[in-house]
Amino acid sequence: MTETKLISTLNKENLPHLDKTYVPSRLLLGPGPSNANPEVLKALALNPIGHLDEAYIELMSEVQKLLRYTWQCNNRITLPMSGTGSAAMEASIANFIEPGEKILIAKKGYFGDRLVDMASRYNADVSVIEKEWGEAFTFEEIKYEIETKKPVIFAIVHAETSTGVLQPLEGIGDLCRKNNCLFLVDAVTSLGALELFIDDWKIDLAYSCSQKGLSCPPGLSPFTMNKRAEDKLSARTSKVPNWYLDLSLLNRYWGSDRVYHHTAPVNMNFAIREGLRLIANEGLENIWRRHNSNAIKLWKGLESLGMDLHVSSEFRLPTLTTVKIPPAVDGDAYRNHLLKNFGIEIGNGLGALSGKVWRIGLMGFNSNEENVDRLLNLFDTELKKFSIFDSSSF
Ligand SMILES: *Cc1c(COP(=O)(O)O)cnc(C)c1O
Repeated sequence: MTETKLISTLNKENLPHLDKTYVPSRLLLGPGPSNANPEVLKALALNPIGHLDEAYIELMSEVQKLLRYTWQCNNRITLPMSGTGSAAMEASIANFIEPGEKILIAKKGYFGDRLVDMASRYNADVSVIEKEWGEAFTFEEIKYEIETKKPVIFAIVHAETSTGVLQPLEGIGDLCRKNNCLFLVDAVTSLGALELFIDDWKIDLAYSCSQKGLSCPPGLSPFTMNKRAEDKLSARTSKVPNWYLDLSLLNRYWGSDRVYHHTAPVNMNFAIREGLRLIANEGLENIWRRHNSNAIKLWKGLESLGMDLHVSSEFRLPTLTTVKIPPAVDGDAYRNHLLKNFGIEIGNGLGALSGKVWRIGLMGFNSNEENVDRLLNLFDTELKKFSIFDSSSF
């Protein structure tokens, strides 16, 4: 035995077990994560099996089949990447951009900025079109930019979680095909919650996450790519500059070869298998309807309480609502009040909208009428306590 003494200031007696008193129960009505379905949590708690076990290989195929249904596509390469949504986001850049190639990014919020940052790290020639935070692009604006800039990839966020805008995507796929560019869509806050047709809308590449519409904990990022994207990938002249996210290596494990690449987060795949099963069971059309109607209920309720919504009704995002913080209210204090006293999390504004809006999420398992009623009731009874003016003026 070594004579070296351990360096430790840990007081083991004071380290509690991780249980319900340690992790408080929360209703997550913010921008994500959203609460996981209890059935998903049961699957998550199973003992892991080997990532090359026959039973696990079968589960992988089921996850892929279920994902193809949820994405509404027949893409061969459809898989959940290990990591949160940003992992598949980065894979979508790392695999498809070679240094100096032009990517056009339509930026209208925080996650558009992240795409720009990632693309520049992979030495893309980055072109940007911008909109105010809270607006969507028109088809004509996108058409003009693609035709004049001639990028190899056009990237856009479907559901901008930072602003509460739903970007219409119809027609852009055809436009990209005509102009010989790949159509890349961030579907992190739309997959499993809002209408999305990967094949029909001719989306070449898309990524999402497990913790928003899919009612799972964070940890996986579903990804899909079609034949056009496969062709671009196989035409690469340089190695993908990211080993962990290299799609040709990942597909040797998820495809027929089943060659070890990295140890799969086995339990997270149990969880997503269950989350996707629940989605298939309910049916996508029912799910889309549920998200829409609960969002409309929330919007009407907030407006009838005299609150203003940040996004005009035609571009409003059912999974995430941005509501203006009334000028007389301390937004952070009210948010903390909901969390501390009612166990409900809502989000603050990001970037340009910080201090101006709250962000209310109704995603997956959490999109239900009871949650909407509960939150509206709290806005009715609690908000008046947070006016920095005399509360009788409310
Ligand atoms: C949440 C989110 C991401 C990032 O996903 P993480 O799981 O946080 O890595 C990317 N894009 C959008 C639109 C998001 O809402």
